Amino acid sequence: MGMSVSRVFSGLLFCTALLAAPLAAQAEFMRVTLLGTGSPRVDADRAGPAVLVEAGGKKLLFDAGRSIVQRLAQTGMPISDIDTVFLTHLHSDHIFGLDDLWITGWVYQRPKPLTVHGPAGTSNLATSLEQAFRYDISVRNQYSGLAKNSVRLLAREIEPGVVYSQERVKVTAFLVDHGAVEPAYGYRIDFGDRSVVISGDTTYSETLVTQARGVDVLIHEFFAAHPDLLARNPRLRRVEAYHTNPGQMTRVLHETRAKVTVLTHVILAGLGRDEVMRGLRETYEGEVYMGEDLMQFEIGSEVKVLWSDESTPR
Ligand SMILES: [Zn+2]
Ligand SMILES: [Zn+2]
Repeated sequence: MGMSVSRVFSGLLFCTALLAAPLAAQAEFMRVTLLGTGSPRVDADRAGPAVLVEAGGKKLLFDAGRSIVQRLAQTGMPISDIDTVFLTHLHSDHIFGLDDLWITGWVYQRPKPLTVHGPAGTSNLATSLEQAFRYDISVRNQYSGLAKNSVRLLAREIEPGVVYSQERVKVTAFLVDHGAVEPAYGYRIDFGDRSVVISGDTTYSETLVTQARGVDVLIHEFFAAHPDLLARNPRLRRVEAYHTNPGQMTRVLHETRAKVTVLTHVILAGLGRDEVMRGLRETYEGEVYMGEDLMQFEIGSEVKVLWSDESTPR
């Protein structure tokens, strides 16, 4: 298993040369970029949750957390290239960057409307954002000559099952367990034999395990708090209950055995990243990493893990 994965530490040219490089016209090749690995906590090193998946000429964005437009700019990809978004759930940390992506993408000449797939409530979100930005849109329309149609924000409320299928790229939504947040979705993206699963926010979820068994890349949320903090802080225990703690993560790792697993939406309370990762690796011999913003995964016959200068673990 370990031999199928090569770790590539990239040099200074990474951002300009590699990130901006078009995907090779190679069959069944996917590229995954962690645009943001953060959570509701404000962290200068972690933008809000967002994963960019490129396959078959499609560029699909999963969640749109804070600051992701800056992260997109760092990859060299034009913001206007993104016209398809999938939301895992409607917690604010997963949508704080949506208005920026929508309006700024339009200003940058996105040729099409922005389509947002998400749980019940997504239509209301889109309508409300259009209302909130009505003034800005009308003012820009008067002076800028921007395409009026492409400023539209199209909501597609989804149910579990296949929610997108184009150019051999298939996206399947499945329900996860995020406590009171119902529905909350995870997503599986298939392109030929290649596959990626994004957990969204969830505690241990059997559905997720079923979807993620043996995938190329599993991107899973993670919450780790020191036992003493948990013991004296009921609020922290309530938060832990709808996220995935280290014991549950260990179970997920063993039950899914993805080629590569990467932790995101990282919340560490009173624990350091190294001790947390050491704990996970003590019982699981497969490839597991703590996610960093702008980390990439190139999925071909093997999975390459790439860190940019910005995302190299400190
Ligand atoms: Zn969240
Ligand atoms: Zn959440």
